[in-house]
Amino acid sequence: MRRDLPWINHPDPWAILVSEVMLQQTATSRVVDPWRRFLERFATPVALADAPLSDALAAWAGLGYHRRARDLHAAAGLIVSRFAGEVPSSLEDLRSLPGVGAYTASAVASFAFHAPVAVVDTNVGRVLARAWANRALGRAEAARESARLMGRAASAPFNQAMLDVGAGHCRSRALCEGCPLARVCRWRREGGGDPAPTSAGVSRRQAPFEGSRRQVRGALLREARERGPRTLAELRRDLAPLTAARLDDALASLTRDGLVERDGNVVRLAGSMATGAR
Ligand code: SF4
Repeated sequence: MRRDLPWINHPDPWAILVSEVMLQQTATSRVVDPWRRFLERFATPVALADAPLSDALAAWAGLGYHRRARDLHAAAGLIVSRFAGEVPSSLEDLRSLPGVGAYTASAVASFAFHAPVAVVDTNVGRVLARAWANRALGRAEAARESARLMGRAASAPFNQAMLDVGAGHCRSRALCEGCPLARVCRWRREGGGDPAPTSAGVSRRQAPFEGSRRQVRGALLREARERGPRTLAELRRDLAPLTAARLDDALASLTRDGLVERDGNVVRLAGSMATGAR
């Protein structure tokens, strides 16, 4: 089952980098529209680097985990200053960008530049553990096995196919019916305990959003984004019944992360001071 996603086979490495950063902590279905909007607003690294951070944070609406927007903004600045405005192609240069870890660097190197590297996320980790090894695989071992399996095949279609099987069939609860690997899958053929849950790269369930600090941070950022700079009193009034203690805690963490700025009693999106907003 091939997923029809707008960044697959996209010719622009910047569009692919943006998609991979957005996909780091957000479900694919929730990324498509924000990705389109973000690229309409920031079609190139130069466009993002030239904009204030507050614009990047505003364009991140709906995605959560706003530190990614802050890091992408900083990455765009580095792409402009160090790489002449072009997304770099080597793993090492990609890893030097803020917010780009091993997985994202591999994904951009493969999907944008066709580098012969394996892309192993949670989904692919499950496929490898079940279909290929029928045993739990550590993270590094999974990457090695994936590279071995890829052999000389073109990396982008191979990696995309593995991601698609993992997302469409080899989920936590395997949907083997119609899986293209069903006939060769070792776990299906040999049986035994499911090797996926103990494999590296298989993530734990996220803590519930409801009632979390993440939820309060999101509410504060939405206020600052949609209504402009707000006083502490306004925030406490409009975000009731959240307690002052919870608001203060979330505000302190947003300030530490460089996502909002405090000017006395006024809270605004980071970087918006320079734009002259109230
Ligand atoms: S046959 Fe089932 S267990 Fe094997 S790879 Fe496909 S979905 Fe996963």
